[in-house]
Amino acid sequence: MNANNYIEIENQYGAHTYHPMEVVIERGDGVWVYDVEGNKYLDCLSAYSAVNQGHCHPRLVEVMTEQAKTLTLTSRAFFNTKLPLFYKKLCEVTGYEMALTMNSGAEGVETAIKVVRKWGYQTKQVTANQAEIIVCDGNFHGRTTTIISFSSEAQYKQDFGPFPAGFIRVPYGDVSALEAAITPNTVAFMVEPIQGEGGVVLPPAGYLKKAYDLCKKHNVLFVADEIQTGLGRTGKLLACEHEGIRPDVVILGKALSGGFYPVSAVVSDRNILGLFKPGDHGSTFGGNPLGAAISTKALEILKDENLIERADELGTYFQERLAEIPSPHVKEVRGKGLLIGIELNDSANGARRFCEALRDRGILCKETHATVIRFAPPLVISKDQIDWIVDHVTEVLNMP
Ligand SMILES: *Cc1c(COP(=O)(O)O)cnc(C)c1O
Repeated sequence: MNANNYIEIENQYGAHTYHPMEVVIERGDGVWVYDVEGNKYLDCLSAYSAVNQGHCHPRLVEVMTEQAKTLTLTSRAFFNTKLPLFYKKLCEVTGYEMALTMNSGAEGVETAIKVVRKWGYQTKQVTANQAEIIVCDGNFHGRTTTIISFSSEAQYKQDFGPFPAGFIRVPYGDVSALEAAITPNTVAFMVEPIQGEGGVVLPPAGYLKKAYDLCKKHNVLFVADEIQTGLGRTGKLLACEHEGIRPDVVILGKALSGGFYPVSAVVSDRNILGLFKPGDHGSTFGGNPLGAAISTKALEILKDENLIERADELGTYFQERLAEIPSPHVKEVRGKGLLIGIELNDSANGARRFCEALRDRGILCKETHATVIRFAPPLVISKDQIDWIVDHVTEVLNMP
């Protein structure tokens, strides 16, 4: 079968919730992926930062196949030999006391919402059913009905209501708006350190620190959604470290399993996560030994291969080189570590055509928000590979 055959079959039988680039990937290895026709591409999306460790990392292949032969699922009705060690590793790496693992990122966010509400009622003593959570304009926290209810993207919500109450949205990057929105019922402020899906949007320097201080002042929990920015992507383990803050609750996902298996987690301290009691929350697959074994190894790889330092150094280099590209189309190059966006001028006529031109040259990028090209390659990328990408981006951005 050729690429068109696969695309036709998917379009016929699958619901059309995405608008994929027309490339049918068959195989991956490190930063590279190969399509069914044998063409090779450097992956600059990394499955939205889920493949920080690189495609099909041999150590993850090994642990996954071994564990798959040994034990895959017990449910949490019983203990297993992998989850305890994953929890310990995750807490040691992140510096928190407790963790709770789920599958998708959205489930991690839902878990955080539940636990901060419970903290609000039991610890902060908010009146029953009055808890408020403050979120930001331009946020992306996932696709469940509760999460889309507080999205500012009209299409994410259109025809999916009715929605639950208890979420208040403020402009991203605006500390006074946050302060004005805090009431005695506010239990948490949930924020992405960089808005990835929002178009690689960085808040003003100092914003996260000021927002964190405000939360402390008003007894509000600071919840960082680090599903995309966490685990090395921005050149720190957690992007919040760039401003020296330690969130009360951190949500992780994506690269937590190196792209092998859906694993997300909420990490926090005992005074918060310890509020969950048996029966309060759960998931059949959450905490399964297969995911736990893979994720434990995926965390080890970040450290063993110095991927966080690499993201810092190579990300700075990549961003500098992209910023030097002379092009009439570029409005701004921004980012942190290896999470970089090139925002194009309105006259550029959208980012998609540039992504398609890059694809034809063997580089896979995806536009975000119509006018931004996102570059988020696996953290195992080399300097030479970055130079090669920059050469092609330079030519493509000089198309008429
Ligand atoms: C991808 C993402 C999510 C949702 O994760 P899923 O695994 O797709 O449910 C939530 N928050 C952020 C910041 C993300 O980038």
